[in-house]
Amino acid sequence: MPCCEIIAVGTELLLGQLTDTNTPYIAGALASRGMDVYATHALGDNRARLSEAIRAALGRSDGVITCGGLGPTIDDVTKEAICDALGLECELNDAVMQSIERIFAGSGRQMRDNNRKQADLPQGSVLLSNAHGTAPGFVAFARDGKFVAALPGVPHEMRPMLDEQLLAWLRSRFSLTSFITTRVLHTIGIAESEIDHRIGDLFASQANPKIAVLAHDFRCDVKLMAKARDAHEAAALIGPLEQDIVARLEGYVFGTDDETLESVLVGRFAEVRRTIALAESCTGGRIAARLTSVPGASAAFLGGVVAYDNAVKAETLGVPAQLLADFGAVSCEVVTAMAQGVRKRLGSDVALATTGVAGPQGGTAEKPVGLVWLALASDAGVQTQRLQLKGSRELIQSRASVTALGLLWKTFYAM
Ligand code: ATP
Ligand code: MG
Repeated sequence: MPCCEIIAVGTELLLGQLTDTNTPYIAGALASRGMDVYATHALGDNRARLSEAIRAALGRSDGVITCGGLGPTIDDVTKEAICDALGLECELNDAVMQSIERIFAGSGRQMRDNNRKQADLPQGSVLLSNAHGTAPGFVAFARDGKFVAALPGVPHEMRPMLDEQLLAWLRSRFSLTSFITTRVLHTIGIAESEIDHRIGDLFASQANPKIAVLAHDFRCDVKLMAKARDAHEAAALIGPLEQDIVARLEGYVFGTDDETLESVLVGRFAEVRRTIALAESCTGGRIAARLTSVPGASAAFLGGVVAYDNAVKAETLGVPAQLLADFGAVSCEVVTAMAQGVRKRLGSDVALATTGVAGPQGGTAEKPVGLVWLALASDAGVQTQRLQLKGSRELIQSRASVTALGLLWKTFYAM
């Protein structure tokens, strides 16, 4: 498989003033089209170091893609560095000159020498025109046929140039016929090690699709990556493996690809015409925020109460004062009464409640920071879950929210 390297150019990148979003975008586009990325680099606007890096990359790879430093100003040196690395001179490109002249005539601004300089491209290069700015991109060539493609740094100029021109050029130059198709299976309530235990043998036996397990946000994803010539072939490769994995992870896979826990829940509850209400203490409305982030959430979500103070738990949700006095706000008894109370007040089919010690202060030996109680009330009764979570206040709150939504999904996915 052909391979290339990506060099993001800009001193701001090295000073930590700019987050490089171009490299992941380019790398993703190349990977999905069957072009290996051997390495990625970030360099400052320094002509000598840049040309040295390009030469070194060409020693290892079939080509280099740079982004940034193509503009008309003195600090934009990418074109010069590419010429140095390849031993080429620049020459005037008439098509670029005309388009720059048109841009200036249209805007009424005066053209400067440094703008004219933008019409110079390395000898023998292929033009990548810039529909969204003045700096053109190009593909220049080394004597041995290896390439250096230069893209602008501004993301909204870079992306269309890559998508609409450079990828097509690479595809024909390297006869790239395979695409990578990705399928993501989202799980909840199962640890990474348990997933590994259940599907680990497939990792070794499968070269295509490749399998990866990614843990994040207090739950795990299983990713299948198939290399195939078209969508049909990709589906044939992914389908049987996906079925096998879903069967082995029965009861834990809640969705695929762009689906989220909340989008699946809203969809499922709307489908069976059931409604959800919330009583949130330690999660402070985070579960409501997740549910309402889904378009059409009103079909399933009635509303919620952020019942932070005991008075709100008692007066708004009807939690008996005696329970609060006897067991404390963070208890199985109180979270049960919160779920029952909000279900009754809002008239929902299902109600979810949270209470806990988010920290960093307020923990005791009996009720340490990270202790969270969840309750789910429905016609079937009340189900509770005790969690002992780790991490900062923010992590505890978000982990409690994800786990609560997971409890809701687990209980009702078979509806
Ligand atoms: P211009 O013609 O605007 O000068 P250029 O090709 O010379 O374009 P740069 O000067 O390197 O590009 O960068 C211009 C701006 O584009 C940066 O200030 C930054 O906002 C954005 N940019 C550049 N490189 C990146 C990158 N790798 N990731 C995200 N944004 C970037
Ligand atoms: Mg610039």
